[in-house]
Amino acid sequence: MTTTIVDSFTFCRLGEQASGETPVAQFARLQKDLADSSGQLRWRFTGGRHPQDLPQLTMAVEGEVQLVCQRCLKPLAHPIASETVLVLAHDDAEADEIEARLDDDSIDVIVGSVAQDFLQLVEDEALLSLPLSPRHAVCPEGAPSVEGGKAESPFAVLKQLKS
Ligand SMILES: [Zn+2]
Repeated sequence: MTTTIVDSFTFCRLGEQASGETPVAQFARLQKDLADSSGQLRWRFTGGRHPQDLPQLTMAVEGEVQLVCQRCLKPLAHPIASETVLVLAHDDAEADEIEARLDDDSIDVIVGSVAQDFLQLVEDEALLSLPLSPRHAVCPEGAPSVEGGKAESPFAVLKQLKS
C-alpha cells in the first residue's frame, strides 16, 4: 500500500507523483453527507513548481458518491471529477501573502507540511464538490414529493441548517 502521508515540499521539489484508489467508506467526514458509503475515489497528485517559484501540487479526484436527494430523500449518484492546483505555503501568514500576490482564483494556497495527509486533501476536495442541495432532475417513480406547495420535509430543512 502506498503511503499517503508525505512531505509535500519535498514531493513538489522532486516533481514526484502519487496516485491511488480509496474506498469512500474510509472518509469519515465525507460519509456524513452521503446516502451510503459505496464507491471509490481515484486520486492523483503531481508535484511541481508554480511559475512564481513556489511549490505547486496538482490534485485530481475522480469517482462517484451517493448523495441524498433533497426532494425525495432517495439516493442520488453524484460524479466527482475535479482537478485543482494547490500552492504550498509554510504557514498561515505566508499563505495569505501568497494568496494576495498571486490573485488567482483558480489556485488554492494551503499550508504545506512535512507530514501532509494526501487523503485529507482528497476528502476536502470531494466535500467542496458536493452540491448544497442535491436533487434528481426527475425523482424516481413512487417517491414522495416534498415540493410544489407542500411543506419541505423536516429532514431537508435540518440538512440545510447543518450545511
Ligand atoms: Zn429525488
